[in-house]
Amino acid sequence: MDFQPLTHFIKCFAHVFFPVSCPICGNPGEIACKECLDSLCFNRKIKCFACGLDHPCVLHESEAWIYFFARHNDVARRLLLSFKYSNHESLGRAMGESVGNALLRDNEILVSSYDAGSVILVPIPLHRESKRRFNQSRAIAFGISRVLGFKVSESLRWSYDVKTQTERSGKERLELAEDVFSAEKIEGKRVIIIDDVITTGTTIKRALSACARAGAECTGAIVWAKA
Ligand SMILES: [Zn+2]
Ligand SMILES: [Zn+2]
Repeated sequence: MDFQPLTHFIKCFAHVFFPVSCPICGNPGEIACKECLDSLCFNRKIKCFACGLDHPCVLHESEAWIYFFARHNDVARRLLLSFKYSNHESLGRAMGESVGNALLRDNEILVSSYDAGSVILVPIPLHRESKRRFNQSRAIAFGISRVLGFKVSESLRWSYDVKTQTERSGKERLELAEDVFSAEKIEGKRVIIIDDVITTGTTIKRALSACARAGAECTGAIVWAKA
């Protein structure tokens, strides 16, 4: 028996009460289709944070790694914008699940070698003066956590007020002070930083060094998209 029309009917019915549609294909009743999110996967491999070559890198053996899922252009950019300014935190979790699944599929040996009890996912926090209703990096982190089984820990704080990312030029971002973040209660943990977009990489670099100062081992960073 073909259930396709029935499934479509249920989705349209749900759309009346929960008016959402996939921001990529417009499918009603869907916060975002799994296939649509998975199709944004651009990068399959974990890279060296210092030089961008494949991890493990012979030049920077002790450096953290970085994994970015999509390219921050066209569809991925629009999706992130609609996510930031909508109230659908669950879209972030769906995005995070796609990222987690891609990591597991393409880098399983690395991911499965980590002890789930010692690894924590640490999202970049919202700026102190941010008026957003939720932290998109945190929502993505919870999606990744659901797939990989690592706990989310909101251990980072901005040390002082800084202008929001969109208000700062690339040069200013480079000038983010060394101590712009502080971290707590992460001693002895292996930290993976989670962020929505990477541009110059300075924010993640500062976050990793705050975690290192607090006694954690800086393992890597997972980012939704690379600008
Ligand atoms: Zn879709
Ligand atoms: Zn390297």
